[in-house]
Amino acid sequence: ANAVKSNNTLQFYQNGDDEAYLYKLNLIEELKLALEQDSGNLFLTYQPKLNLKTKQVDKAEALIRWVDKNNEFVNPEMFIALAEQSGLIVTLTQWVIRQAAHQIQIWNQQGLYFNVSVNLSAQDIQHEQFVHFLLETTTHYCVDPSSIILELTERDIAENEALVIAKLTHLKSLGFEISVDDYGIGQSSLAKLKNLPVDELKIDKCFILKLNESSQDQDIVESTITLGHKLGLRVVAEGVENQPSLDLLTQFNCDYIQGYYLAKPQKGEQLSEWYAHYVKNH
Ligand code: C2E
Ligand code: MG
Ligand code: MG
Ligand code: MG
Repeated sequence: ANAVKSNNTLQFYQNGDDEAYLYKLNLIEELKLALEQDSGNLFLTYQPKLNLKTKQVDKAEALIRWVDKNNEFVNPEMFIALAEQSGLIVTLTQWVIRQAAHQIQIWNQQGLYFNVSVNLSAQDIQHEQFVHFLLETTTHYCVDPSSIILELTERDIAENEALVIAKLTHLKSLGFEISVDDYGIGQSSLAKLKNLPVDELKIDKCFILKLNESSQDQDIVESTITLGHKLGLRVVAEGVENQPSLDLLTQFNCDYIQGYYLAKPQKGEQLSEWYAHYVKNH
């Protein structure tokens, strides 16, 4: 069944595909329960980012994981899409932000300072209470807003552009950082980018995964980095899987890399250990 979004109601019902429809409905109920019970089936992993200029690992992206009742990982892109279609995303994102803020607090207590990015959906940023919620949460966990980076895709921004830009401007004034995720695959024009109150551009991994093999990708990535810098933005490459790609990104003057070559997403405690090990060896 094709999932179609309509005003927060669930509407996958396209081709009379009852089975797929019921499966998804059931999955949403399960996800709702997992959120309510918070019993560990739902958790965050963190993927570190390396600053190519300073060689420091000082940022990480929070990525949600869900183990369902059959003990199987559910694809995050799939259940996030379901959460968006069902309206559950607002609750889910609040859960994510609370978890991330708590983890930052724990790291800070260990003397570790990572800026953590969280992925938002269009509905989150448009939600009336969102700014209030963020401030309340950072205050509660004694976390500085500047240690939180909010990632949005071009599509999330385009959905209600004027409102979203106003919200982002407000959030930036409070110290939160804003990042454009999956940059390069959306429909955005360069003119639009110029007007966005953002700090960071994340080049979509489809341009990065085979960077070392594709001179076209190299041209695209190099010019995107140059553009980002001209606009005063920090540029991150996600999906870096090998040393040759890392070398190219260094040569292109990219600011940060994120990818399996550095580390896979992992739980908070594991990232502390990974980090200690990394620092010792670099
Ligand atoms: P994203 O925000 O673009 O996150 C980057 C994705 O690339 C992650 O997939 C990450 O595991 C993967 N990745 C990182 N390095 C590499 C690499 O070297 N090679 C390859 N092949 N992949 C790499 P993941 O964790 O499966 O998440 C997929 C998407 O699901 C995310 O894409 C994001 O759009 C969404 N997502 C994940 N967690 C959350 C969340 O808490 N909230 C929301 N709203 N969306 C989330
Ligand atoms: Mg992201
Ligand atoms: Mg998204
Ligand atoms: Mg991305």
